[in-house]
Amino acid sequence: MALIVQKYGGTSVGTVERIQAVADKVARFRQQGHDVVVVVSAMSGETNRLVDLAKQIREQPVGRELDVLLSTGEQVTIALLAMALEQKGCPARSYTGAQVHILTDSAHNKARIRDIDDQRIRNSLARGRVVVVAGFQGVDEHGDITTLGRGGSDTTAVALAAALKADECQIYTDVDGVYTTDPRVVAEARKLDRITFEEMLEMASLGSKVLQIRSVEFAGKYNVPLRVLSSFSEGEGTLISIEDEKMEQALISGIAFSRDEAQLTITGVPDQPGVAYNILGPIADANIEVDMIVQNVGADGTTDFTFTVHRNDYARALEVMQDTARRVEAREVSGDNHIAKISLVGVGMRSHAGIASKMFETLAKEGINIRMISTSEIKVSVVVDEKYLELGVRSLHDAFELDQEPAGKSGN
Ligand code: ADP
Ligand code: ASP
Ligand code: MG
Repeated sequence: MALIVQKYGGTSVGTVERIQAVADKVARFRQQGHDVVVVVSAMSGETNRLVDLAKQIREQPVGRELDVLLSTGEQVTIALLAMALEQKGCPARSYTGAQVHILTDSAHNKARIRDIDDQRIRNSLARGRVVVVAGFQGVDEHGDITTLGRGGSDTTAVALAAALKADECQIYTDVDGVYTTDPRVVAEARKLDRITFEEMLEMASLGSKVLQIRSVEFAGKYNVPLRVLSSFSEGEGTLISIEDEKMEQALISGIAFSRDEAQLTITGVPDQPGVAYNILGPIADANIEVDMIVQNVGADGTTDFTFTVHRNDYARALEVMQDTARRVEAREVSGDNHIAKISLVGVGMRSHAGIASKMFETLAKEGINIRMISTSEIKVSVVVDEKYLELGVRSLHDAFELDQEPAGKSGN
């Protein structure tokens, strides 16, 4: 008998029928004698609907009130799922984040979990109930409702699994595992049996939204066995775990991509010590995160400087830069928010040169211009025009033969 934490995403609980199907699945685990804690998201589309409502009142809603609003989505699903379970003769209780003391900091809309008091959950499990917890939400030290950022139910599930020392944390979604790239973009994408925390974290950070970044960080830190599976079909899904020698040694495990990007360029900046600080200082002061940075070597005593930010921060960053340009007497500020980032990820890259050049060659053959490049030990990222995103991802998937099992793998 095991203790399992299961999380069902928005599509998996998108209708009453689907909630009933989830209840069937959960009840089967319970019948096998396992203790089950279930975390659910809001019904699909609900969180977006609530965000839209708030924006009709104010473009930048007050964080505290937005959290009160957004947390209602998950409260609906916990109640419906608990009712469906009871209806099937499976004792269940629903709890909001506050009721099971998911204590977070006070950073509304992107709160971090600090502590979980698992006593109430354990008591409920001990009475033979399935415990149904609202994902994505917590409560801060002042008793105010907080939310954990989009996709945050994944993090609720992993945090609960860590706190309860669960045997496994299962993330049920609308695909049957983690693929070499988003299967909605590349039909030939291949499901991975296993992937390391490190690679999954890189994939998530570079745009693969199948798991929230923080959930992977959390799982890695507390070594929570994490599995992504389909709520609609049977199967082993993908196990995310620490690296071991038996694991397939593919050079590249996947391709991540992101449309949430925008680029800013400031040209003709007098080149002197402090340029980078003068330009990026005000951006940091405006609480805008910078991703890639490129500075050219100037020949005529001036330099050009380009960097990328999240697309949501584009308008604000442009304003800040126009201010900066006047101050440092730069020639011009320009920008583009129709760019995208494509990244190759793999721990096998560490010991192999030539991955980057093959990537550049592949994109060149398709006539795709690379605007920026950045590399680390286990990834190579390029920025391209957004209109080439899908073509780029498909041609790279093909060129690196990611649709095929890596050689030497036994095929478990
Ligand atoms: P949920 O509502 O269950 O949390 P999400 O939409 O957050 O589901 O995550 C699942 C989606 O992630 C899939 O439908 C798929 O389009 C997308 N996705 C992106 N990259 C990958 C990948 N590498 N493997 C699998 N799915 C991916
Ligand atoms: N409902 C929230 C969202 O749509 C949290 C989640 O689904 O994980 O982002
Ligand atoms: Mg999700």
